Amino acid sequence: MSKLFVVPTPIGNLGDITLRSIEVLKSADLILAEDTRTSSKLLKHYDIDTPVESFHMHNEHKKLESIINKLRSDSEIALISDAGTPGISDPGFLLVRECINNEVEVECLPGPTAFVPALLSSGLPCDRFSFEGFLPVKKGRTKRLKELSTETKTMVFYESPHRILKTLNDLSNYFDIESQISVSRELTKLYEETFRGTIKGSVEHFEKNKTKGEFVIVLSPK
Ligand code: SAM
Repeated sequence: MSKLFVVPTPIGNLGDITLRSIEVLKSADLILAEDTRTSSKLLKHYDIDTPVESFHMHNEHKKLESIINKLRSDSEIALISDAGTPGISDPGFLLVRECINNEVEVECLPGPTAFVPALLSSGLPCDRFSFEGFLPVKKGRTKRLKELSTETKTMVFYESPHRILKTLNDLSNYFDIESQISVSRELTKLYEETFRGTIKGSVEHFEKNKTKGEFVIVLSPK
């Protein structure tokens, strides 16, 4: 039977994959991976020898039609990204939508994603929250920050190492500098750590400690 499986993969610690995800990756006819080299480490670790093809933001539009054709001819395809859940600040949405439009069954497995452990670790209210992903880098950044300055739910942002300080500085310009913030880095990895304090404190902390890694910022509303 044809089906697209969306399969979350670990965000650092290779142990964070479900048994069912491994089964699905083993039994699929094809794995679509964001970066085939990055995923080969995981696939090798779990003895998964399913054929792998690349599927990333630069070729996803071009590949949609051929993938849908494969899915129509009785194939099971698994979609993975470099880390975490496909579609969450990663390619996935377009393919899922195309499958739905073409009446191809989609099954999304639950599993790792960076924002959930970061949100819980923050100690900030998590009953309602707004996932913001990456802030726009240039165009639209000011507009987004202005809009968010009146947000009433806890906000969650993704950020890369080279922009973390700029983003914290920008947040200090649009929110009360005494607002509570939490910045988690390297979740599930050896140097995992979470800074908790005020926006002002976070700027001072990351100015002093030029740390590497990937970050999730969790911000308390006004
Ligand atoms: N699909 C992923 C997910 O489900 O979380 C997100 C992919 S997005 C391209 C990469 C961003 O996710 C990083 O810049 C960082 O903000 C966040 N991220 C991924 N892994 C992380 C980790 N181990 N620790 C902290 N943040 C992480």
